[in-house]
Amino acid sequence: MLDDIDLGRRQRILIVEDVKLNAQILVNALKDTYDLRVAYNGVEALAMVKEEMPDLILLDIIMPEMDGYEVCRRLQSDPDTRDIPILFLTALEGDQNEAYGLELGAMDYIRKPFNVPIVKAKIRNHLELKRYKDILKRDSRIDGLTRISNRRRFDEAYAEERERARRNKAPLAVLMIDLDLFKSYNDTYGHLQGDDVLKLVAKTLYHELQRPGDLVARWGGEEFAVLLPQTDLQGALTVAERLRTAVYKLAIPHEASHVASVLTISIGVAASIDGQPESYDQLLQWADEAVYQAKAEGRNKVAAYVGK
Ligand code: GH3
Ligand code: MG
Ligand code: MG
Ligand code: MG
Repeated sequence: MLDDIDLGRRQRILIVEDVKLNAQILVNALKDTYDLRVAYNGVEALAMVKEEMPDLILLDIIMPEMDGYEVCRRLQSDPDTRDIPILFLTALEGDQNEAYGLELGAMDYIRKPFNVPIVKAKIRNHLELKRYKDILKRDSRIDGLTRISNRRRFDEAYAEERERARRNKAPLAVLMIDLDLFKSYNDTYGHLQGDDVLKLVAKTLYHELQRPGDLVARWGGEEFAVLLPQTDLQGALTVAERLRTAVYKLAIPHEASHVASVLTISIGVAASIDGQPESYDQLLQWADEAVYQAKAEGRNKVAAYVGK
């Protein structure tokens, strides 16, 4: 379901080299195997990285304006680009320069004049590692059962969105979703079928959310959390109602439920308050309190946190 990292695609290499002839040798050696981009100076390289994340960068050291060391330093200091492996292209002699580049965070060196088989082998090895790291990174943020984001991913996204929203004085909302009477569902239909229901509900919530920044995560057990950037309380209530209805319409029989003949969910809604910067830190707690409110009102309900 989460195909934001397409691990089957051709891997992308950015070649940064100011001497056209050198760049051309690399392009000829690699074009059949990889997607290539070429930048002829450091400034252009940084712009290209922002535009389209490469999987690996071949980086010349001596270039006019901004040298390779500086490009490397900048990429390493940005969390978005820190994990892109960098291989320096160098004609420089001596271990001292080599140590310097590795300390800056580069993975390896490729010497000029290029020995094509060595170039290819080094690149293949580093890209292989990169692919495994991407898989690990992705899987550590995905819930094993439902394959949507897990709580760790939610926490990261919430931390980011919270600061962004606070800075921009933009609204932010959180929903907490709890399956109603799910213990008795398991008791009636068995735990395995309960797992299938969790998967189906996760998929349904995922597909109901429409805006690109919206995130649904499995919070734990039979609970889900939803992050809604750029959304105020009124908007969040509308989304919550749509999610509640979508799960109801799945019409999953739940004969032990005294709420309805089908499985239902209760949703707690919390949103930031205009002019109260601290409110951004309270959303999880408020949404959690609102869920209890929804349960108290009879379940299969959406409730907003209204404060004390
Ligand atoms: P309420 O409406 O008050 O939320 O009632 P409830 O039964 O859903 O709440 P309670 O917290 O008592 O029980 C939650 C149940 O969710 C316990 C467990 O049977 C079920 N559950 C939690 N995690 C899983 C899971 O991974 N798989 C399955 N099948 N069931 C789970
Ligand atoms: Mg050069
Ligand atoms: Mg619960
Ligand atoms: Mg429950």
